Amino acid sequence: MQPFTHPITMTPGAAIQSGPRRRGVTAASPQACKLTPMRITRTAALSILLALPTAAAPRQARATPSPTPARPVKLAVLMAIDGMNYDRLMQYRPWYVAGLKRLLDEGHDFSATHYRHINTETGPGHSSLGTGAPPRVTGVVSNRWFELGPDGRMRSVNCATQWDTQRVPGTPALFYREVERDGRLYVFAQRAALAAWEASGELGKAILRPGAGPQGATLAFDSEDAITLYNWRHGRPAETFPPRETVTGPGNLRVPTLGDRLVQVRPGARVVSLAAKDRSALFMAGRDARHAVYWYDKDTGRFVTSPVYDPSYPTAGLVKRLVAGFNTRRAGAQLPGRFGLLWKKLPAPTHAALSNLPAPAAGLADYQLPAQGVGFDHDLGRDPAGYFNAVYTSPLVDELLTDLALDVLADAKVGLGRGDTPDLLALSFAAQDVVSHSFGAESEENLETLRRLDLQLGRLFEAFDRLFPPGSVVIGLSADHGFAPIPEAQHARHPEIAGGRLVSSERSTPNFLERLNRLLTDELCLPPGSRPIFGVDGWNLAYDKPALPLRSVAGTCGPAERLVGAEQIDAVLPGVVTRHFAEEISAVYLNAQRARWRDDDPVVEFLRNDFDAERSGDVFLVPRPFVLMHWDPARGSGHGSHHEYDTHVPLIFWGGPFKAGRSSEPTTPYDLAPTLAHLLHVELPDAIGLARVPAIDAQR
Ligand SMILES: [Zn+2]
Repeated sequence: MQPFTHPITMTPGAAIQSGPRRRGVTAASPQACKLTPMRITRTAALSILLALPTAAAPRQARATPSPTPARPVKLAVLMAIDGMNYDRLMQYRPWYVAGLKRLLDEGHDFSATHYRHINTETGPGHSSLGTGAPPRVTGVVSNRWFELGPDGRMRSVNCATQWDTQRVPGTPALFYREVERDGRLYVFAQRAALAAWEASGELGKAILRPGAGPQGATLAFDSEDAITLYNWRHGRPAETFPPRETVTGPGNLRVPTLGDRLVQVRPGARVVSLAAKDRSALFMAGRDARHAVYWYDKDTGRFVTSPVYDPSYPTAGLVKRLVAGFNTRRAGAQLPGRFGLLWKKLPAPTHAALSNLPAPAAGLADYQLPAQGVGFDHDLGRDPAGYFNAVYTSPLVDELLTDLALDVLADAKVGLGRGDTPDLLALSFAAQDVVSHSFGAESEENLETLRRLDLQLGRLFEAFDRLFPPGSVVIGLSADHGFAPIPEAQHARHPEIAGGRLVSSERSTPNFLERLNRLLTDELCLPPGSRPIFGVDGWNLAYDKPALPLRSVAGTCGPAERLVGAEQIDAVLPGVVTRHFAEEISAVYLNAQRARWRDDDPVVEFLRNDFDAERSGDVFLVPRPFVLMHWDPARGSGHGSHHEYDTHVPLIFWGGPFKAGRSSEPTTPYDLAPTLAHLLHVELPDAIGLARVPAIDAQR
């Protein structure tokens, strides 16, 4: 069966916009590299497209917008399975009895779907699924990165945090106290800061205003709040401050998502995004304040949201009330009563002989993280981070998310899929990922999690069947990244594969950052304890640029006081890494030299697709196969590379115009959002992915 045409571009504009940013995504857009680096209008785009060499001709011919399918899509469901490698999903296919079975039996499977960026992590992946573009476009280059802060120092940024621009210093009503001592006037807006100062005489982060007080006294404030309150009480003009506090939010996304475009084009449309992880829910939804976005809070066992979403909008307000009721009745304190304290295996399947079913790997106990005990039953009560965290690191979190999604779907007031405009529901199931981190992607725990997810998706399919006419719901399912097996276990099974891990946690000693800084300090004759590298995350290194240049001490490099800046670090870093980390790292790419990266080097596409000038630091490292950047020196597993096991993910469409089938042409997860957008009649000009819609739809 050949139900698919060549890729249909979303719009002519979507096909060829943004020349330089498109560079590197060769799997799906071979002609994109030839475009000039400028932003172009759709009309201009069309004329350029017509002038392109013959390679582009089929694309243009296919670019005619296809007619509306017979039954319009009323609800698009963007579904992510966190950390789901395609081969593993298919390997266990005989086990599935419910939702995964229906998805694979009835959906269209794009079996050769690969990410084309190197930091295959949760934040980047969900951003790509939400927008149809790689990190160089979304700006979400890894889960955490290092950038220059407003104070001129380097800072570490969690991808799901943003400046709190709504917070006004001096509000809400704050503690206030002035204390005169030693010719200074100390001003406090924080009771704890006053108590600490009285006990120790130290005012840690005091903001000083020499001579600005009464009779020329120096003012010492404990915070900007104190400055604001002082000015107000003394009738002085207000000062403005750049935001210093952060909140959890989607603000790091540089482009609109499918959800953002949907509510812009169709103001009645509803966007609801639910996930176990904050970054997943945020980046699948987008930045529009009208969205309803909730994720699981590991501290309280409840679903929470970001202050950037505004519950005075109808959907956000209705979902807020629904979630509040859900938290009281079915989450939080109710969880131990509902789920119990043990994660037990599901009963053996009855639909097939157990001996015929593919089995997970055995003998992994020495490599697993024992927070909930090794081997079934897992004791959720012994998790040192508490019961609610244990729920998050077990398949129960997927069940809880499904419960909430079913409540949202059933709610007539929220009315998903029942309005005049199509709606978007985004769901991300995280248990695959967190369980694989603890127990290994090849573990029995992982299979049990997949079996339970199968049942949860089955409940969702039943709800779709019950609530909506056939064909009016379309699901696009993918993953934010794949997963590696446990490197040491992989090596034990296949001695020819070295594998390994670099320790990323700065709490673990020695860690990779510390080792690298020590080696560079020796190599460059820097004073002992120097830290020329500020941080390591994903496969990026960021130099401590504001601290540069450093000054050398006398030694093998020559006399003292030699200046050591980024150029000098660039000059020695590849050699240092090659000599000391050859087993883990195969190549070092300096961002300062990225104009000279060779496009015929296969890894370069993955680096360029992940590059953001403000967020990618100074260096990309390229890991060897089965090498992790991981927080634990010996146990657990991870993901995050450009290797097959991390990039090869499912891309499956079910419902709407899709029929059962499989395509093996090369596709990317960046195609998911454009495909849903096509069915919702929304344009995604920032997407680089392609709409993968059935030919039957295009030809009708
Ligand atoms: Zn993930």
